[in-house]
Amino acid sequence: MVSAYAELLGRRYSGRLDGDADEFIGYLVDGARRMQTLIRDLLTYSRLARSTAATPVAMSGVVEEAVKRLGAAASETGASITSGPLPTVVGDRTQLVQLFQNLLGNALKFCRENVPPAVSISAVGCGGEWLVAVRDNGIGIDPQYADRIFTIFQRLHTRADYPGTGIGLAICKRIVTRMGGRIWVESRPGDGSTFFFTLPMTAGRES
Ligand code: ADP
Repeated sequence: MVSAYAELLGRRYSGRLDGDADEFIGYLVDGARRMQTLIRDLLTYSRLARSTAATPVAMSGVVEEAVKRLGAAASETGASITSGPLPTVVGDRTQLVQLFQNLLGNALKFCRENVPPAVSISAVGCGGEWLVAVRDNGIGIDPQYADRIFTIFQRLHTRADYPGTGIGLAICKRIVTRMGGRIWVESRPGDGSTFFFTLPMTAGRES
């Protein structure tokens, strides 16, 4: 309601009050939209605490679905998203899609100026676990912040530089941890980032 009426005010009264009013309505519309996004992300985060489905899920289909959900961010930025052979794991498909959607979304968002995003996904079997890597060619992360970014609301940039709520990686961490895995990042500023996560090896690799 707040968002809808703020937008209605903006549409109906833009240019009919004064400059200050137009500016204030702009803040109202922007704030209401951000509040909506924040509530949506917090709900996603809190709902992960509930019990989850555990069925065999082919990771290649999960990646396809995540890319589809990213829509224009994936299709209209000249981005390339490639993946090697991916395993089938046992888990909650919706959560796995969310995991890849967040990691791929970040890889596309934190890209370098004038460098089309290139993301590659790979998986190897390693000591009873799958080790999955999502590598990008973006702005990179100073290693001193490598742990901090997985904490809720921790961001390394202002909203003006890159939009976001700072909840995405906390969601990723909760999903992976609940499936019995670990998640971390290896990166250098300006040199892209690779997000790694492990998942228990409970089913065979796809042919
Ligand atoms: P948001 O994307 O909403 O800021 P996240 O929890 O997804 O929140 O990420 C936290 C922070 O980690 C981001 O603000 C950004 O500083 C950093 N980050 C995440 N993914 C990447 C990436 N692929 N490349 C560079 N920085 C990243």
